[in-house]
Parts: sequence; structure tokens; C-alpha cells
Amino acid sequence: MTERGAKAFPERVLVTGGGGFIGSHLCDRLIARGQEVLCVDNFFTGRRQNVAHLLDDRRFELMRHDVTFPLFVEVDRIFNLACPASPVHYQFDPVQTTKTSVVGAVNMLGLAKRLKVPVLQASTSEVYGDPTVHPQTEDYWGNVNPIGPRSCYDEGKRCAETLFFDYWRQHKVSIKVVRIFNTYGPRMHPADGRVVSNFIVQALRGEPITLYGDGSQTRSFCYVDDLVEGMLAMMDTGAAVTGPVNLGNPGEFTMRELAELVKELTGSRSELVHRPLPQDDPRQRKPDISQAKAVLDWEPKVPLRDGLERTIAYFKSIL
Ligand code: NAD
Ligand code: UDP
Ligand code: UDP
Repeated sequence: MTERGAKAFPERVLVTGGGGFIGSHLCDRLIARGQEVLCVDNFFTGRRQNVAHLLDDRRFELMRHDVTFPLFVEVDRIFNLACPASPVHYQFDPVQTTKTSVVGAVNMLGLAKRLKVPVLQASTSEVYGDPTVHPQTEDYWGNVNPIGPRSCYDEGKRCAETLFFDYWRQHKVSIKVVRIFNTYGPRMHPADGRVVSNFIVQALRGEPITLYGDGSQTRSFCYVDDLVEGMLAMMDTGAAVTGPVNLGNPGEFTMRELAELVKELTGSRSELVHRPLPQDDPRQRKPDISQAKAVLDWEPKVPLRDGLERTIAYFKSIL
């Protein structure tokens, strides 16, 4: 029996950013459901070892390529994930970050247009910026600083969404836009500076846990397996469904609560220390996922505690 959406013949699926955290889990799931995967990555933040276990599979192909350059391949579907996602990485070379989002989107849309195949964009909750509407619904236009240190990412992703909807209106390209909220799990880069990886690594090493600001800002954390199911469900919808659709876990936690939970689950004696709050750091964030429930019949299943336990086990194995 084939799973939901899996076809009798193997579809060739392009995953850009497939060597990264989320992309490598997506490659795993696509291979598991019998599809052929072309994984394209320039390895800026991704790593070969994330997909090393797939290299011997004849249905898997890995290509080093930067999506800011044209790509001429033959595929049946495109997942566009290429883009550094953690603030530390996307602020390292902000011009390249904007180029990756914007020029990368143009190239993937051009590819989808030539091939007449659907293309899914991994957009982000950051398009809402520091939101004045809570929880965030897809019809909220956002509160984004266009000239700050986060803008290369936020505005790059916003412009990518604009391009997706213009290619849809102007060139009838079949588009799928998902707005991903904070996602965590195994294969997060231990040094990428995101809060979940930072806290776990610090707790396991017995180092101080760094709370930025007073730790009262909130985020909602989705376990990567749940997210990947949502992305697949979105790709499997008919052409009428374009999104944008929020994908995330509505459970909302303060960073202080997260730090306490990580301490408890690791049994760590690390102390909590305060560091300055980065500029433009959103105060609160929580997805409204009514659309994902209604249109995709999707909602996350893994509670934060369980997901953190799995993630801690991963970090224990690599540290
Ligand atoms: P990641 O940094 O682990 O993965 C991004 C991948 O893209 C890496 O493998 C990197 O090498 C590759 N890449 C970067 N620039 C490229 C380029 N120019 N050409 C080709 N490859 C390039 O990050 P992730 O967490 O797996 O995020 C994947 C996608 O999901 C990103 O588009 C990100 O914006 C989006 N997203 C992630 C989150 C999250 O919480 N992890 C939240 C919202 C959106
Ligand atoms: N493109 C690509 N692969 C393809 C088709 C197009 O990378 O198979 C790139 C192409 O280089 C172009 C971009 O996608 O820069 C946008 O393509 P489109 O057809 O929309 O624009 P045009 O080629 O007319 O500028
Ligand atoms: N954060 C923190 N300590 C850290 C890393 C991050 O308190 O060591 C905070 C950060 O200021 C933000 C939240 O945790 O309020 C989430 O940060 P992350 O970089 O993971 O994601 P984003 O800000 O993009 O949601």
C-alpha cells in the first residue's frame, strides 16, 4: 500500500537546502515513501553527514550547487528550503542571505515554470516580524523592520513570497507557501546559535545557560517530524491550494520556561545567566494553525517534552 500522496511510480523530487536540518529530514521521508530525491545544497550551513546515510541509496542524488545560480534539471516537484535559518548564520553574510532568498526563489520559480511542476517555498514566521497580532494568522501582514540586522532574512523571505504569488498570478506556476515557526530536533547544528540547540549544548556541557533579555519573550516549538508531515501534506494538495499556511506547534513557552525544562530533562546543574536581548528580537510568537487543520488535516503530535528528549539524545551522541 502506498502512503498518502506517494505515487505508484517514483516521482523525482528536488529539495534545495536538503543538506540542512529540516531538509535532511524531508529527504529521509521522501525516500521512505518511495520517491527519488535530488538534494541540492551549497553546504553553507548544511553538512554532508546529515544525508550521509542516504548516499548509497540509488534513489538519492546529492548535488553541490548555489541556488543563486540557474539550475537546469528535470524533476516533478520542488521543495525550496535553501537559506540559512539561524540569526547567527543569516547575519554572517547578509547580502548573500537576501540573494539566496530572492534570486534563489526566481531560479526555482523559473525552473518550476519551465517544467510545469509545483514548487513549495519554506517561508517563515519571521514574515510577521515582531507581531502586533497574537497568535499570528496568515492574513496578518506583519511588523518588520526593513533596515535592521534581521531584515536580510525577514525581507528576503517576504520578497520570495511576493515572487511566488506573482509567478502564480502571472505565469500560472503551481505554488505552495508554508510559513514555518521555530522548529527543532536532531541534526540542528550545535553551533548555530538557536535557542534550543544553545540551551541543550550548554546544559550538557555544564556551562551557563544564556537567557537573552529577561527570558519572558515567547516562542512556539515544533518537532521536526511533525513539520515535515505538514510540508508533505501541503505539497500533496491540489493546485487550488497555494497558502500561505502556518506550520508550527501552538504550544507557547517563555525562554525561561524552556531553559528550566532543558535543565530538568538533562539533569544539568548549569546556572541561568542573562545576556543582552538582540535588536529586533520578537517579543512573542505563536502560530494560529486553524488553516493547516482545515486544509491539510494536519496538526503537530509531538509534545515539547518528548521532542526535547529526542533532541537531547541526539546531542548526547555527537558532543
Ligand atoms: P539550515 O541552515 O540547517 O538549512 C538550510 C540549508 O540551505 C543548508 O543546508 C544550507 O547549506 C543551504 N543553503 C543556504 N544557502 C544556500 C544557497 N545559496 N544555495 C544552496 N543551498 C543553500 O536551516 P533549516 O532550519 O533546516 O531551515 C530550512 C528552511 O526552513 C530555510 O529556508 C529556513 O528559512 C526555513 N525555516 C526554518 C525554521 C526553523 O525553525 N528551523 C523556521 C522557519 C523557516
Ligand atoms: N531558470 C533556471 N532553471 C530553469 C529555468 C529557468 O534556473 O530550468 C532560471 C533562469 O536562469 C531565470 C530564472 O530562472 O533567470 C527565471 O526564469 P523565467 O523563465 O521566469 O525568466 P527569464 O528566463 O525569462 O528571465
Ligand atoms: N535566545 C536566548 N538564548 C540563546 C539563544 C536565543 O534566550 O542562547 C532567545 C532569543 O533572544 C529569542 C529566542 O530565544 O528570543 C529564540 O531565538 P532563536 O534564535 O532560536 O530563534 P528566533 O529568534 O529566530 O525565533
